[in-house]
Amino acid sequence: MLKAHKIALDPTNVQATKLACAAGCARKAYNWALREWGVQYEACKADHSLPKPSQYSLRRELNAIKRELFPYMLESTKCAPQEAIIDLGRAFQNFFAGRAAYPKPRKKFHDDSFRVSKGFFKVQGKHIRVPNIGWIRMREEFRWPDSEPVSATFTLRAGRWFVALNAEVANAKPKPSDMEPAGVDVGTREAVVSDATRVPVPDLTRRHAKRLRRLQQSLARKPKGSRNRAKTRLKIARLHARIADERADWQHKTTTMLADKHSVLCVEDLNVKGMSAKPKPKPDPEREGQYLPNGHTAKAGLNKSVLNASFFEFRRQLEYKTKERETCLVVADQWFPSSKLCHVCGVKTKRLKLSQRAWTCRSCGTRHDRDFNAACNLAAYAKQQLANNAESSRCQSVESSGLPALQHHYQVRAKPSSVKQELSIKVA
Ligand SMILES: [Zn+2]
Repeated sequence: MLKAHKIALDPTNVQATKLACAAGCARKAYNWALREWGVQYEACKADHSLPKPSQYSLRRELNAIKRELFPYMLESTKCAPQEAIIDLGRAFQNFFAGRAAYPKPRKKFHDDSFRVSKGFFKVQGKHIRVPNIGWIRMREEFRWPDSEPVSATFTLRAGRWFVALNAEVANAKPKPSDMEPAGVDVGTREAVVSDATRVPVPDLTRRHAKRLRRLQQSLARKPKGSRNRAKTRLKIARLHARIADERADWQHKTTTMLADKHSVLCVEDLNVKGMSAKPKPKPDPEREGQYLPNGHTAKAGLNKSVLNASFFEFRRQLEYKTKERETCLVVADQWFPSSKLCHVCGVKTKRLKLSQRAWTCRSCGTRHDRDFNAACNLAAYAKQQLANNAESSRCQSVESSGLPALQHHYQVRAKPSSVKQELSIKVA
């Protein structure tokens, strides 16, 4: 598995300036190539004898002209402009495949980064050597000393430089002992697991709200273009980075804990709906509320994008962490009524307001905690899906031995499964 280790850097002032120069070269090359691509593409449309632009041809062209037009590029590592144009090629590939929008020009202060390819940098203990810059101090040692990093990406984030070292790492995580499927309901206040574990979600927006407001007020008073305004802006950027770091820390600790403990995990697929939903004047409060920040009875949809993204990240982490441990992650269908089902008798309640944190089942009289009940239902869902999958894989093996009737049977019964096939077979 290709993994990255991101390490904070401690460059000297001279080194920081050189890092910024390299990032500037990468940005310049990217934007130059983007413009060239457009020009050459138009020319090629008008005259079919001309070749279509590609990242290879653009890299060659840049090398031919940079000595004359961009002499400052010679002062930085040659990887910076080259790798930037490779990135542009990839951006166009994604665009042509319909996965992404047309590439946009890179901006200063937003996308300050560059990449050094394998063979051009060296890692030794707490230092990394970059051509034309020298040995830069790293805050920690590279995590996987046995594998050689294939690339080093340098990024400036809120005034600090980081390096991300990519390396191919073997999956060597111990398997969890708990074979029972566990459901996880990630709310805005806490994440609840069906084994009754509760992990409170830190309320970061509230924790940092006061300082953020003060800084923003202070920024508003500073004249545009002033040195003090720039300083305050950096302070705000640092605070935002800190909030993001705290969120990431919680997510990593929680997902690692879950993946270490349970061999089958089940989460709800809330995100897909949120992402594909068209903007509505009034969002459905029943679903919407699940994203609402802690304690805020504010308008539905507030902070939704942030929370949506954080849920997406939570799931992404669970996906790769279960893959690493060769365990199973079941993603419940977005229409699965996890909150409304009674996990004791299976009866679905009709109405359940978001404000109702607890409810009593009419059929069996059990008093339910909303989130715990949802987690239990998700665990049961995972069990059901695994059983279905085991059955369909049995049918598949019979089918391959040539029984058309069973093939039909299999096709009818099989649901579009979100269970990872190869893993579920192992579990079954
Ligand atoms: Zn019941």
